[in-house]
Amino acid sequence: MSDQVKFVLDESHLPEAWYNLVSDLPEQPPPVLHPGTGEPVGPDDLAPLFPMQIILQEVATDQYVPIPEEVRSVYRQWRPTPLYRARRLEEALGTPARIYYKYEGVSPTGSHKPNTAVAQAFYNKQEGVSRLTTETGAGQWGSALAFAGGIFGLEVDVYMVKVSYEQKPYRRGLIEAFGARCVPSPSQETKSGRAILAEHPDSTGSLGIAISEAVETAAMREDTKYSLGSVLNHVLMHQTVIGQEAQLQLEQADDYPDILIGCTGGGSNFSGLSFPFLGKALREGKELRAIAVEPAACPSLTKGRYAFDFGDTGHLTPLVKMHTLGSTFVPPPFHAGGLRYHGMAPLVSHLQELGLIESRAYTQTEVFAAGVEFARVEGILPAPEANHAVKATIDEAIRCREEGVSQAILFNLCGHGHFDMQAYIDYFAGKLEDHEYSEDEVAMALAGLPAVAV
Ligand SMILES: *Cc1c(COP(=O)(O)O)cnc(C)c1O
Repeated sequence: MSDQVKFVLDESHLPEAWYNLVSDLPEQPPPVLHPGTGEPVGPDDLAPLFPMQIILQEVATDQYVPIPEEVRSVYRQWRPTPLYRARRLEEALGTPARIYYKYEGVSPTGSHKPNTAVAQAFYNKQEGVSRLTTETGAGQWGSALAFAGGIFGLEVDVYMVKVSYEQKPYRRGLIEAFGARCVPSPSQETKSGRAILAEHPDSTGSLGIAISEAVETAAMREDTKYSLGSVLNHVLMHQTVIGQEAQLQLEQADDYPDILIGCTGGGSNFSGLSFPFLGKALREGKELRAIAVEPAACPSLTKGRYAFDFGDTGHLTPLVKMHTLGSTFVPPPFHAGGLRYHGMAPLVSHLQELGLIESRAYTQTEVFAAGVEFARVEGILPAPEANHAVKATIDEAIRCREEGVSQAILFNLCGHGHFDMQAYIDYFAGKLEDHEYSEDEVAMALAGLPAVAV
């Protein structure tokens, strides 16, 4: 093996199709249910919210779905993204493990989110939609959809979780720079927002609330559809360009991962990296560890219940079976805003139930310590969300050292932290607290789960 640290692919290796893990699963995931009837939803039920091509991708069973040339031509601006071997981190840890990371921070908005934003904006434009609504937590998704909407000439309205709107004004500025409108959520603009404010005037918002506002606005207007940045099958599928490129890059490195690691908010970057590898492992009957890492303050996979639940707080979405803390649960305002969602992607939840992936949770201060340790040797400052993956990677590398085993670890460095400097400043000032989520609040939110006879 050479001492190479950077593995790059030229444009000719940009994937031509998205990979659909459902095609290789031993057991299909449960259907999505209509909240009124409790019956599986059909394409027509979803048509007010999504363009038909997206709906078809949501239920696709084909192994590959071709990426339209219009989308590939936008991807070309930053894809294929680089894969690095973290040699200085390995040395600092004194580990025999081989650590690789795929770096999605080179996209125009600094994370993996444009991989799906561009695809979603394209299909909406193609089907005659003129406006998109969406929610955003830390602002990563809002800025990605604002960028993609701008490229395809769509108006974009972003409901931004209020705590982030205030804590992260620079993301808001980026959203506005790309020409989108940014509204702090809960807002007075929607019935769902007004209902929350009537009960909790000081609400700092949550992704669940912001989704209700965006869905409500989209359902009201013929020319407007809704766009979601994570959780749904089609979003996870769009992100598989990450893992497919990484497979080619590891061939260059003449190596293969034993362990895959990604942070999980709704599950899309973890899935994008791991699904192509998991599919291959399933087809070949091989073992592969994939670890989903979440915040201890919003632990849907590690502490949530696997049940049918709403995707939003206002109960406007269909019911999906997922690991959930309850749709009315509002996570404490920790700094990894992109991980503050009450549920987990149904497909990721299903994989955990099948025993095909592992999950673990870390507190805020321990993941920031890991992110800073990484930045000091590798020179890239991770997004607070990505710090969760960094922490798990360091822990696995230390385990390898202690056990004297040399394994290959690949993690997704899903974004840079350049818009999150206040969080780092607070961390250095010793001001970051390890919020415990309230077990009572989760119990209350879970008591409100919809009754579904399945
Ligand atoms: C949005 C975001 C996440 C969380 O979303 P997933 O769908 O779980 O990937 C994680 N990291 C970054 C940098 C994000 O922008």
